[in-house]
Amino acid sequence: MKTYFKATRASLGGTWTVMVLVASASVACDSGSSSGPEPTERTLTVLYTNDEHGWLEEGSGTDGPAKLMGLWRNAEGYRESGDFLILSGGDNWTGPAISTWFQGESTVDVMNVMGYSATAIGNHEFDFTVDGLRARASQATFPFLAANIRLKGTNTSPDFATPYVIRNVNGIRVGLVGLASQSTPWTTFPTFVEDYDFISYQAALEEYVPQAWNAGADVMMVLGHICYDEMTALLPTVRNLDVSVLTGGHCNETVGTVQDGVALVVGGWQFAHYGKVTIGIEDETGEITRLQSSVRPNSGGSPDPGVQAVVATWQDAAAQELSEVVGYLENSVPNGSPALYNLITDSWLYADPTADIAMTNSGGIRQGLPEGDITKGTVVGVLPFLNTLVRLELTGSEVIDCLRSSIVVAGMSTVAGYLHSDGTPLKADSVYNVLTTDYLYSLGSYNFSLYDETAYNTGITYYQPTVTYLGALATSAADPLDRYLDHVPRR
Ligand SMILES: [Zn+2]
Repeated sequence: MKTYFKATRASLGGTWTVMVLVASASVACDSGSSSGPEPTERTLTVLYTNDEHGWLEEGSGTDGPAKLMGLWRNAEGYRESGDFLILSGGDNWTGPAISTWFQGESTVDVMNVMGYSATAIGNHEFDFTVDGLRARASQATFPFLAANIRLKGTNTSPDFATPYVIRNVNGIRVGLVGLASQSTPWTTFPTFVEDYDFISYQAALEEYVPQAWNAGADVMMVLGHICYDEMTALLPTVRNLDVSVLTGGHCNETVGTVQDGVALVVGGWQFAHYGKVTIGIEDETGEITRLQSSVRPNSGGSPDPGVQAVVATWQDAAAQELSEVVGYLENSVPNGSPALYNLITDSWLYADPTADIAMTNSGGIRQGLPEGDITKGTVVGVLPFLNTLVRLELTGSEVIDCLRSSIVVAGMSTVAGYLHSDGTPLKADSVYNVLTTDYLYSLGSYNFSLYDETAYNTGITYYQPTVTYLGALATSAADPLDRYLDHVPRR
């Protein structure tokens, strides 16, 4: 069933070197022949990012995609006609305004000009509904891959998900099979994906990887929006299916290793790192003679002019968006007021209906709302940092232990005991879905990370829900925001 040129692991043999977290591993050819002409090797170089989250601009811990492209050209020798394949593990968008305000269009524009060949479908690809994903898929010059999404109750892949593709690079036909996260039904808006099943990775791969081999692949890669623990759990399956490369995403990890004959790679997030996988294939036999994986920082590159120009266009568009009016206030709301704290934290619960409680620090709220028109720029001025929302699970007693005098809340109050919004007491042993910022989560003094080590970073900037909420209220001079404000202190 597999073509004659199919790459095999047979020539690799030996003991694998395993290194994880900004490491690389390589395996030398062990062909056993010490005489005769040197075999001709074809190579394939994969440059890989995941969880880009629309971080198109330089700053906040990333050099951005323009400098990454420059780095690929200068340090990695990338050229369009070379043996390169640029791939993504998904979650392309949802992040800063330059991405979110254009529902991913700007990110796809940048990825098009960078020459991406495929992306896995991340959970955030659904953040602007399935129609939003369809729009991005038709804009993209690359397919959105997932072999494990089915129309609910059927075995049919939906139109927006391509299970696999074959890409021809340097004479090597590369099979690329996608995997979406099985957590998607609760890591995007659940109603957006209620018509779909996200079936097991193993079942999907056992169905589609043989199809990709039959379609003429010489070497097989699985492009996954899956975490490192899920990748290692899948190793026996991908080995059985002769997959050479398994990529990951979603958990924002950095992994560059070869394990059990499979190259594993995860490139961090926000274009701050990238993964590199090198594959050598013996031309005549199709055997894999080289398999290397590493993850590298995006630093030291000079901006690629083509990518930089596209980013600049979207920076201008985002600057114009800042002036868009999203609401109207008759009377100003000062910073430090319960009305402001309640508006902001309530908007987080509005944006994430699965969350019970929102907790943030008053220090992240920098100014009040002036009277008159409220623009997107006004909201970004109130909440100016590039913090993202983190969702974690805490018991009632852990919530109480994480409270500090600087914390402001939604979904609960502490004025007359620890109460839910409906006045019933918080239960010490009940588990609550809690939203906070990645900033507070990173501070040990708040104990959030102590109580939930595996919190989920939504990638959503902390001002976005307020922009969305104000837009939904659609206030105006005739029906001002003042009528919707909650002035009752919660702390
Ligand atoms: Zn994700």
